[in-house]
This record gives sequence, C-alpha cells and structure tokens, in this order.
Amino acid sequence: MATTQKSLIESVPKGLLIAGTWREGSDGQTIAVEDPSSGATLAHVADATVADGKAALDAAVAAQGDWAKTPPRDRGEILRSAFEKITERAEDFATLMTLEMGKTLAESRGEVTYGAEFFRWFSEEAVRISGRWSTAPNGATRLLTMKKPVGPTLMITPWNFPLAMGTRKIGPAIAAGCTMVVKPASQTPLTMLALAELLRECGLPDGVLNVVTTSRTGDVMEPLIRDPRLRKLTFTGSTNIGRRLVEQSAEQLLRVSMELGGNAPFLVFEDADLDRAVDGAMLAKMRNIGEACTAANRFYVHESVVEEFSAKLAKRMSALTLGKGTKKGVDVGPLIDGKARDGVAELVEHARSQGATVVTGGKAAPGRGYFYEPTVITGVRKDARMMREEIFGPVAPIASFSTEQEAIDLANGTEYGLASYVFTNDLGRVIRVSEALEYGMIGINQGIISNPAAPFGGVKASGFGREGGFEGIEEYLETTYVGIAP
Ligand code: NAP
Repeated sequence: MATTQKSLIESVPKGLLIAGTWREGSDGQTIAVEDPSSGATLAHVADATVADGKAALDAAVAAQGDWAKTPPRDRGEILRSAFEKITERAEDFATLMTLEMGKTLAESRGEVTYGAEFFRWFSEEAVRISGRWSTAPNGATRLLTMKKPVGPTLMITPWNFPLAMGTRKIGPAIAAGCTMVVKPASQTPLTMLALAELLRECGLPDGVLNVVTTSRTGDVMEPLIRDPRLRKLTFTGSTNIGRRLVEQSAEQLLRVSMELGGNAPFLVFEDADLDRAVDGAMLAKMRNIGEACTAANRFYVHESVVEEFSAKLAKRMSALTLGKGTKKGVDVGPLIDGKARDGVAELVEHARSQGATVVTGGKAAPGRGYFYEPTVITGVRKDARMMREEIFGPVAPIASFSTEQEAIDLANGTEYGLASYVFTNDLGRVIRVSEALEYGMIGINQGIISNPAAPFGGVKASGFGREGGFEGIEEYLETTYVGIAP
C-alpha cells in the first residue's frame, strides 16, 4: 500500500465516539477491516459491547435537550461547514472508501460529491422548518401547528455507500435538531469514523453524534431499539434485517424509516433511442459494481430490439477492465467479500442451468480479491432466481416482452418497489407506464436517479420513508398541534 494511503488510514480515529470522546470498546476487542481487492487487513476498529451501545444512547439522550434549542441557523452552519470540509478533503474520503469498499476512485469521488450534497441541501433546510396558523372552520379556535425534533435516533447504515448512506440520515437529523447513535457497517467503518471526526471539527457539540462500531451487531442494537428513550430508528440495508428490526421496534411503537432492498426493472421499449438506453444501462447496472439497491436487476427489452440492445450492451460490458479500485485504468472493482462473489456466481449458474446464454463474462476472476467479470446473459427465464433476487453484482440478465402491458406486469411482478427505469420516446407511454409502475422512484431515459434534492425511497418490501428532498427532514420532525381559544 502506498505511504500516503497508509498515513491516511492511520489518521482515522479507530475508537467509539461517545459523548464527544474517542474511546476503546469496554472489553478491548477490535474488528478487522479488509481490503476487498486483496483480502489484506487495512486496520482494526473498536468492537462495541452492549454496555458501550447503551453509553452511546445515554450520551445522545443527554445532549438532546440543548441540541433541540440550538438555533436552526447554527445547526445549518455546522452542516454547511462540513459540506465544505468534505469537499476540500474529497480525495482523502474517496481513497478511504475505495480501500475499504472496493469501487474505483472515480466512483468514490462521485459518492463524495453526492454524499456531501446532502449536508449542503439540509444546511439550507434547517432554517425553513415551520408550522402553520389557521382558524378552525367554525371560527371558534385558532389552530397552531409546530414542528419539533423527533429526538434521539438510531441510524444503521450498509457498506455499499459508506459516506452517502450516512450523510443522507445525519444531514436531516442535524438540521431538525435530533441527536443520534450511528452504527456503520462492520465492513466499511473507516469512512464514517473520518466523517464523525470532521463533524466534531465543524463544531458539532459533544453527544449529538455518537458512533458505535461492533461485530456483535444484533446484541448491541436490539437493546437500543427496545429502549424507550430512543425515539426513532432509521435503517438502510437488506429487507430481511429490516423486517427483523421493524418487529423489534413494534414493542415501543418506535418511529421507523426503512430503506431496504430492490429488484429494479429496466424497460426498453421499441421506440427508445437504443444508444441512450445502453448508456443508461451501463450506469444503472455498473454504478457501484452493481452493488446498489437501485441497480438495474432485470432488463426487459421489446422483442423487436432485444438482439440489438443485448449486442450493444455486451460490447460495452466486455470492454471494462477489472482491478483494484485505486489503480489507473480500472473500471470495475471487487465485490465486497467472498460470500457476495459466490452468491453472484450461483445466480449465474442457476440461469445457465435453465438454458440462458452467457454472452460475455460469467465467471469469477482468479487470484486474490473478490472479483466477478461484467456479465450479460440473454434468454433468461422469468422464474430464474436472478430475476427474483437482488443480484448485487455486475450481471445484466436480459429477457424480452411483446406488449406494454406485459412489460408493466413483469416490472411489477416482485415484492420489491424501489427504483425502476424506462426508456421510450413516446410521451403518452411515459405517463401510462409511470402511473402503472409500483415503485418509489422511476427514471425516464436516465440510468441514475439518486439526487439529494429528490425524495429517495421505496414501496412494498423496499421499505417506507423518504431520504433527501423536502420530504427528508420530515422524517426527523414531529408535529404538535395547539388549539388556542381567542
Ligand atoms: P445488511 O446485512 O442488512 O446490513 C446493513 C446494516 O445492518 C449493517 O450496518 C449491519 O451491520 C446491520 N445489521 C446486520 N444485522 C443486524 C441486526 N441483527 N440488527 C441490527 N443491525 C444489523 O445489508 P448490507 O448487506 O450491508 O447492505 C446491502 C443491502 O442494503 C441490500 O439489500 C441493498 O439493497 C440495501 N440498500 C438499500 C438502500 C436503500 O436506500 N433502499 C441503499 C443501500 C443499500 P454489520 O455490518 O455489523 O453486519
């Protein structure tokens, strides 16, 4: 590893951040953080115990009162200053992320821009929280509504976007005046630890943001979720874990937001601009090595253009270079771990065993690291596992359809409802299909839809709640109604 990379990792705090102090886990244990391109250990971070988790919540609860009273402008300025500092240190954040998560530096730079933008957006929203004054219909009373911060919030984030999945929650929580305990994924904690230190430098008061890394995840998180002092849980991760956390939070009827898994359909109609559709497919499929909840998981292409589309996509996919994300000229990094790579390989084998054709790719790359080749598979059956499950890797399965209604039915034929993509030049079709798709987000003629100014979130088994946009801050606010007799 280059000396600069080594010193960058050394500069990141490795402890738990509790009440403004970095400290070791109470039993002194640590978690190893791995470089997925080689399997080498990058660093060790503290491994919190149940008592450490409780101490983090104690700190958040203690800080809540004063934090809620802090002027909105002051809260906004902390976010604004954090936005500027992240932007100044963009290269360091991008390098850290690439080292612990695997994606290329170009992609990590993109995430730094995207992730920082949530802080800028919510720095502007902090000063626009307001209520309403009205007269009751019968004229007897005045109705006042005011917004208050929900209170101490537990944030659990995944490994695939180590920065942005954090800033998307931390930004609106700071803007709204909530304190928090953040639990980053065990595989990618370094980016979050660096972010927490940066927020301290920007003047975030002690106890407002506490960070707990732990390998005893369920044991440490469950008591917090069941603690009546906690007022909100926001989770981004898999649908299975999300279901479990909703069950745990039901006991105290905790306010919950769930950003869960996806199974995005990518529809290409016969009137689409095919080159634009292929450009969109490359982004929707290959952003983040396919390890994104918004990743195009199933390509449904009209039967009259399916051959041409598949050939063009396969040509682009086969030209991609696999390798370590920090290396020049590399387009696709490794998957997060061996389990993820083997899972992708199993899905491909299953489709192959059902008679699908692998046009390009179709195997793991030999050697160290968890690489899987960019893959295009055609003639995939509708009941293939990869059409029903999240692939979370660089594999594009393609099937054809013949009518608009069939495309809509195929797209909606899943328990998930996060992102979807439609390529067509027919305005009427844009309206009909957008109205019919059971998804939280729809990209028309574009392969990336995430935007800090837009409400991100899903329906059905993809969860509930929205992050970003005007809606994002509402997740961290309660409405109190006061009736006033004149
Ligand atoms: P995951 O296994 O569900 O883990 C997500 C987070 O939950 C991690 O911090 C993990 O901690 C924690 N966790 C695991 N078991 C837990 C438990 N019993 N109690 C409390 N927390 C627990 O998901 P992942 O594999 O990291 O992430 C990929 C998934 O996230 C995919 O399904 C993807 O679609 C989804 N995702 C959704 C969105 C969205 O906005 N909808 C965005 C990104 C990703 P450990 O790391 O310590 O296990």
